Amino acid sequence: MEQNFNPDTGDDAESQEARVLEKLPLIEQWIDATIEQYHEQAVSVESFGFKHLKDFYSDDLLHNSKVVVVDEVPKPPLASEFGLVDLQGFEDLNAQGITYKDTYFVSTLESKAESLHFHELVHIVQWQYLNAENFLGEYAKSLLRDGYSGSVFEIMARKHQERFNAYLAGDNDAIPYNIEIAVQDELKELFPDLV
Ligand SMILES: [Zn+2]
Repeated sequence: MEQNFNPDTGDDAESQEARVLEKLPLIEQWIDATIEQYHEQAVSVESFGFKHLKDFYSDDLLHNSKVVVVDEVPKPPLASEFGLVDLQGFEDLNAQGITYKDTYFVSTLESKAESLHFHELVHIVQWQYLNAENFLGEYAKSLLRDGYSGSVFEIMARKHQERFNAYLAGDNDAIPYNIEIAVQDELKELFPDLV
């Protein structure tokens, strides 16, 4: 059996990918409409009064990133409306945070967790640096290939988040660094043709 063969659709990995890439404009439209829909609820990260994000992120990024607190983070209807059955798992995911362009959504339950904001801000840097079209395309491909937890974008965000958590916990080896540069360098290495 081919890797990633989906017995329900009979698709191999290549046609799964083609089907997803075809829907990217639709997904981006949904994202833009969602950002617009929550526009008036969006606040700056600074308004949360977190103490440690600024040890890693620039004032510019913290000032320009927007946060929306919601009971349930909105996710694109990838399978239910767009027919991308291979991404049903992502649609069903019980996420506490999700990032779209310069805006991220966090659940009410976790909205005071500085570490979650740190994680979503890594995604803001990824969106910015790759640009929306490239980010969406590469994120979708990595989801198909490696699943949510195995996605390079999630691994990168979790890895930095763990270092931030160690810093919050007072670990002497955890020293602040310029996370934006670190993420950009990793993206450059992963996607040399895109950036
Ligand atoms: Zn993430």
